[in-house]
Amino acid sequence: MVRVRFAPSPTGALHIGGLRTALYNYLFAKHFSGTMILRIEDTDQARLVAGAEDYILESLDWVGIKIDEGVGVGGVHSPYRQSERKHIYQTYVNQLIDSGHAYYAFDTAQELEDMRQRRKNDGHTQQHYNSATRMEMVNSFTLTEEKLKKYISENSNMVVRLKVDPDEELVIKDLIRGEIKVNTSDLDDKVLMKSDGMPTYHLANVVDDSLMQISHVIRGEEWIPSLPHHVLLYRCLGWESIMPQFAHLPLLLKPDGKGKLSKRDSEQFGFPIFPINWINEKSDEKIIGFREAGYLPEALINFIALLGWNPGTEQEIFSMQNLIKEFSLERIGKAGARFDIQKAQWFNQQYIQNINDDELEKEYLSILEKEKIECNPQKAKLIVEAMKSRITFAFELWTQGKFFFLPPREFDNKVIERKWNEGTIKVLKDFEAEIRNINPINATEAKQIFEKITQGKIKEFLQVLRTAITGKGSGPDLMLIIEILGGQEVAERIMFAINNIKRHT
Ligand code: GLU
Repeated sequence: MVRVRFAPSPTGALHIGGLRTALYNYLFAKHFSGTMILRIEDTDQARLVAGAEDYILESLDWVGIKIDEGVGVGGVHSPYRQSERKHIYQTYVNQLIDSGHAYYAFDTAQELEDMRQRRKNDGHTQQHYNSATRMEMVNSFTLTEEKLKKYISENSNMVVRLKVDPDEELVIKDLIRGEIKVNTSDLDDKVLMKSDGMPTYHLANVVDDSLMQISHVIRGEEWIPSLPHHVLLYRCLGWESIMPQFAHLPLLLKPDGKGKLSKRDSEQFGFPIFPINWINEKSDEKIIGFREAGYLPEALINFIALLGWNPGTEQEIFSMQNLIKEFSLERIGKAGARFDIQKAQWFNQQYIQNINDDELEKEYLSILEKEKIECNPQKAKLIVEAMKSRITFAFELWTQGKFFFLPPREFDNKVIERKWNEGTIKVLKDFEAEIRNINPINATEAKQIFEKITQGKIKEFLQVLRTAITGKGSGPDLMLIIEILGGQEVAERIMFAINNIKRHT
């Protein structure tokens, strides 16, 4: 039975890498008809950010990642928020202490720093708190029984540490990376419980993965350094036989492929790396999301699915259902995946071209409403038809097609310089006179009239006519634009252009 979890810490907006982790977990679960769990890892109270949990839920919902069990849904292993599971971790900490696998330590920050300095001065490359240094520190091994009891009751700087035994070569299997080898002498006696009684990530993560019967842990490669400790914890808790399988996902790299993708890249290059807008009133932080930048959730999912995974064929367009069908951990690479925003735009364009016209129309009407532009559904339908093949984002129906509502007051200079002359003005005047009273006018009629006036040389005059009507040198089918605007409006625009452009020349 496949059971996977997405286990974010609510410390800020969910980065696109986190969303990819959620997606891969979801695809893997659904491929095997398994269960997708959402666990909120909020034990580090100092790093909690208000609103982050809601943000995660809303982001997952927007992209269509459905949670079967967890925060917001419930389930047999409730609660799924780690801060509400404190009592559970305490049981396992006690078990580890009783079995000699964990111990109390009371060192101050200064004492820890002194130890590191001493190790450095003595020429050691490592300054870990472990078998090499443990006996120099303030802990269960070095305190008398009496003092230990006193320190525990006073709870001064008390933490619980994992006792890592040295000189063992751990060989851990990762489904993406193969074997990972670590010598236990190179590991720290990791803190399992902090002085506030909260478990650290390591303990809570392992305890919950076991209790929630997680079969596969799929997460970012930044967690590989924690893996040996997790494996040791499974062993010390007697859970080796139920240990999940591990798969660590490759990094997401900057657009130039050099280094890890960061929030700063998004600010610097002006593209989103968060699924939806992130607004943190406390820090005055406001970052644009893919949703608000105009991306369709299906396009974003398709884009991030291919950042690390490949189908082994040339196929690029995948619906969520196709992804579920095709997805496998074997086809995830080890190398980092370059984040290329142009590719994301390309996906959006593909999905916009395939979207149903009615849906696009609805979206368009709602954009127009926000812009306080009145438009009847019939006109919206025609504009969508005219513009659809030219846009990447739905909002471009408005930004690239403002001329459908607002007569141009500026005209493409390049066209004017090259083509505005007595001859073209005469053609425009003749056309204006003919169509002024044809309301409505359809595209075929408009074309016939223009053909007649240009004596078949329609191509020579088309760009000037377009510029006079729309202000721009290029755009969708001009005859269709004329049909949408109507004869009188077109005539008025032509007159305005003639009267105003003349003055410039
Ligand atoms: N809470 C960790 C995070 O924020 C989870 C890591 C894991 O999946 O084990 O990413």
